[in-house]
Amino acid sequence: MLTDRERKVLTLIDENKEETIEYLRKLLGFKTVTPADGKKAESGDYRKLQDFIYKTLGEMDFELDRWEIDTSQLEKFTEPGDKLNRDLGGMPVVVGMLKGGGAGKSLILNGHYDVVPSGILTNWKHDPFGGEIENNKVFGRGACDMKGGIAAMLQAVRYIQQAGIPLKGDVIVEIVPDEESSGIGTLACCEKGFKADAAIIPEPTNMNVLVAMRGGLSGKITVFGRAGHADMSQPHWSEGGAVNAISKAVKIIQALEELTDEWRNRADKQHKFLDPDMIMPTVIRGGDWPVTYPEKVDIVFLADCIPMTSEANLRKEIEEKITSVANTDPWMKEHPPKLEAQWYHGIEIDENEAIVKTCMEAVRELGIESKPAGMGSIVDPFVKTATLPFLRG
Ligand SMILES: [Zn+2]
Repeated sequence: MLTDRERKVLTLIDENKEETIEYLRKLLGFKTVTPADGKKAESGDYRKLQDFIYKTLGEMDFELDRWEIDTSQLEKFTEPGDKLNRDLGGMPVVVGMLKGGGAGKSLILNGHYDVVPSGILTNWKHDPFGGEIENNKVFGRGACDMKGGIAAMLQAVRYIQQAGIPLKGDVIVEIVPDEESSGIGTLACCEKGFKADAAIIPEPTNMNVLVAMRGGLSGKITVFGRAGHADMSQPHWSEGGAVNAISKAVKIIQALEELTDEWRNRADKQHKFLDPDMIMPTVIRGGDWPVTYPEKVDIVFLADCIPMTSEANLRKEIEEKITSVANTDPWMKEHPPKLEAQWYHGIEIDENEAIVKTCMEAVRELGIESKPAGMGSIVDPFVKTATLPFLRG
């Protein structure tokens, strides 16, 4: 049942719907595209967006902190998989703290303001940075992921204030860059010591509450061959003949598919909210001349796993599979493929945690279905909670 206070806030939200839509459209107008690896922010829009957020939070009486990230300060948190070799100059973090009366629990609201590149512009029906509206929908890069979430969380605080409802606990708002690439923005907030009893990251989840995320290994398998003239008949490799690394890589790729098939039905790979473990080749590079036997192939892969699968276990199973295939092939047995991969954490929280139930109840009271759910891919703050004091206790 909605309380009178809740109803008051909801009425304000409805009455001021246009204001929230305009706020989102304004955010969409800033071109805050995540720079590619090795590149840094080119436009001044990252700073301009944060100027705008800073002003919003200031008007709402938040105590404010704004800084640009020095990645050398984050090295103490480094784990395999963390990408600290990023220059985030010109991509500030803004954190605002709204003090509560002290008797209640504290809450972090975290949102990333970077968006992935807009791709081929002629494939867009709308300007990716125009915030155009069609059929009651706002279009633009980040409308969903996740400037929409940022607008929603800031406006929610605004209307709670306008309804005259005093906060018992502190609210901390973190507006961060680079979630789409490195996760450094949220990492920097952890390094600064911002903590709360719970955190909500309003990523697009179809109004479900994500309680589990797969982790995994990201890396490459190098398959070796031996160069030689492709037009010339070759002696056997044991007599110095050429070996085609692409043909050998096919066997490895087939083995990876077998592994995924095996995991799909295995009891220890099942999870209530997540798909079973899988390994998938995503990039293949090999060969360098049309008339030369390819001497090397890199199979770039992604192996996602449920949180119960450990790094050691996942690595061992992949290695054993590669070895078993290599052992059936005399060349690969003598020239074994090489596996290199970085680990990233999967994580889950209990679906009965108070914050999970509170979020779902809040959505259900509006007549919208909400359930605990899992995330097949990686969301940065989830990862950091595995190892960092993002949450208290
Ligand atoms: Zn996102």
